[in-house]
Amino acid sequence: MSLTNEEIYEAISKKLPKLDNETPSTVLGAGSDDLEAGRNYLEALVEDGWMLPTWPKKHGGRDSTPEEASMISRTLGLFKGADLYPYGVGLSLVGPILMDLGTDEQMDRWLLPIANGSEIWCQMFSEPDAGSDLANVGMSAEKDGEDWVLNGSKVWTSRGAYSKWGMCLARTNPETTKHAGLTMFALDMDSPGVEVRTIEQMNGDRHFSEIFISDVVVEDRNRIGGLGDGWKIAVNTLALERSSLGGRSFGGGDQATGLPSWLEEWKLKGYLEDPVSRQKAMKAFTLHRVNQLTVSRAAVSGNNSGPAGSGAKLRSVMAFKFRAYLSKELFGAEGMLINDNEHIEFLTGPSMSIRGGTDEVQRNILGERVLGLPAEQRVDKELSYREMLRVR
Ligand SMILES: Cc1cc2nc3c(=O)[nH]c(=O)nc-3n(C[C@H](O)[C@H](O)[C@H](O)COP(=O)(O)OP(=O)(O)OC[C@H]3O[C@@H](n4cnc5c(N)ncnc54)[C@H](O)[C@@H]3O)c2cc1C
Repeated sequence: MSLTNEEIYEAISKKLPKLDNETPSTVLGAGSDDLEAGRNYLEALVEDGWMLPTWPKKHGGRDSTPEEASMISRTLGLFKGADLYPYGVGLSLVGPILMDLGTDEQMDRWLLPIANGSEIWCQMFSEPDAGSDLANVGMSAEKDGEDWVLNGSKVWTSRGAYSKWGMCLARTNPETTKHAGLTMFALDMDSPGVEVRTIEQMNGDRHFSEIFISDVVVEDRNRIGGLGDGWKIAVNTLALERSSLGGRSFGGGDQATGLPSWLEEWKLKGYLEDPVSRQKAMKAFTLHRVNQLTVSRAAVSGNNSGPAGSGAKLRSVMAFKFRAYLSKELFGAEGMLINDNEHIEFLTGPSMSIRGGTDEVQRNILGERVLGLPAEQRVDKELSYREMLRVR
């Protein structure tokens, strides 16, 4: 039987302190990666499965229906949260993928450590020659007895410096077309031959990296899905990533009652005294709220990935950037001298249009798959990966 809102509130209030708008929250780890706060939060919630209600009980969930999960998620918003950015790949991407096509042994080994925050995952997809054109991945995986030997490099790997596992897309067959020759692996980041070099972003974050992989041995039991299924899994993972990025309210417009804390703050700081500023601020709030409501509706109907995820990502990026840039504008010239959370969000804005697939790529997906517009020219569709290298 489904729980009532009151029962959920009562149970969660024993685990978490009430929301306090005094403590500034980071967004997507911007400015810091607070591993400890995230782990404490997950540990507090894992026993009764509040964080991942639709997951099976034995893997850290509580077998909830989507309706109950949506009530739980709204209730969690009334309590003090943590920026779960460091844990995002495991919680939002790897977990659902494993439940869809992982072996029982993989689920038993990896899901609970994801749910309780003891093992962090990163997403090793992008390479210097494979970003928007992800199917061009060149990292090779060659069979050696029962194992695989991986060689190549990845780039822009967020959380690479502190992850235990990497969800790694590699080429197992260069003789077939670029999409068909890919396979997904779980790579133990402590393996010999893994070298992680941190890259600093313009907002000061140091959580993404280039990763060099030299003769790294991966056991076949760490292959995720079938041989040659890598592209399908990557597409599903990216759809989950977009709906997860799109589903976040990025610190605004996420409260069940009253105005979001940033709008209250702007009021206190005197930003909203003239009508034009008020109007712009309400536009920022409306963008967040419309996205939040659309995402909730899609989640309840079970239609929250695929092109819907692309729509959600575009809307939430637009809302995030509008608010981040507006806060700078409202502060005026002095805004360039401050270095607070809002400033970090301002500097994080441009990256939002790139991570998880660029705005242009999301629009291509919506154009082709929702509006039925003609597909882009794809001249390399019939060529094998090896032939493509020669054509270049
Ligand atoms: C903060 C951040 C974190 C990231 N984290 C990760 C991570 O954890 N793991 C990971 O694997 N990757 C990660 N990435 C990489 C990200 O997925 C890629 O940067 C992104 O997919 C774009 O690829 P690219 O940088 O190679 O740009 P390109 O693909 O070279 O694109 C360059 C420009 O061309 C445009 N363009 C390209 N193709 C088309 C097209 N067909 N139609 C229209 N326009 C097009 C793009 O929109 C873009 O403006 C991260 C990126 C950022 C910024």
